[in-house]
Amino acid sequence: MSEPKFKRVLLKLSGEALMGDDQFGINRSTIIRMTEEIAEIAKIGVELAIVIGGGNIFRGVAPGAQGMDRATADYMGMMATVMNSLALQDALKHHGVESRVQSALNLDQVVEPYIRLKSLHYLDEKRTVIFAGGTGNPFFTTDTAAALRGAEIGAEVVLKATKVDGIYSSDPNKDPNATLYHKISFDECISRRLEVMDATAFALCRDQKLPIQVFSINKPGALKRVIMGEQEGTLVHI
Ligand code: UDP
Repeated sequence: MSEPKFKRVLLKLSGEALMGDDQFGINRSTIIRMTEEIAEIAKIGVELAIVIGGGNIFRGVAPGAQGMDRATADYMGMMATVMNSLALQDALKHHGVESRVQSALNLDQVVEPYIRLKSLHYLDEKRTVIFAGGTGNPFFTTDTAAALRGAEIGAEVVLKATKVDGIYSSDPNKDPNATLYHKISFDECISRRLEVMDATAFALCRDQKLPIQVFSINKPGALKRVIMGEQEGTLVHI
């Protein structure tokens, strides 16, 4: 069997990826399918760290949060990522993958705090690490948490799992001539005004020379193909 292209990766999953076709929350068959794919790469020895968003839970409370102080709403969003992390940890366990959740927010009874050296130790031991609580700061996103933790743990790439299968020259839902980029540089993304991640996350990856691979979480086998270095989605490179 061929070797994986990457030894250590940071996988960013949006919370909304867990919703499936539901309006909010965690769709059971969706999390099982995603977990099967994640378990497959964990089992081939790839050192895997995961950052998960909170959009799926936060969307459910969004009407009640309207008009709320931004920082308060952001803390609620970060708590939502902790719930998703626990759900993911539990689902991974059912697929035979031991993982540790480390949170940027202190929730001692539920998850351990983020301690970089400890997470590096887990990764060295081939245990999957799930980083919960985003960056621990309001006014940021889990994309930025992914870039930050990715840089901290020395990941070779940030794998951004999205609803679309890569970066297009224009919106493929509106433009029939839109073409998919297989590879594109950070500078080209800026000059073509292509939004890959939020600006803070994008700038951090660029500064740290941390490539971003964008691919679809809904495409069966896509994650494995990315890991094996096969053509899939779009690679944003220096
Ligand atoms: N959030 C935050 N700081 C962070 C990460 C997340 O305040 O470092 C909050 C923010 O309100 C955000 C929510 O948590 O809207 C959920 O994160 P995100 O939108 O990145 O989740 P996703 O869209 O990937 O599901």
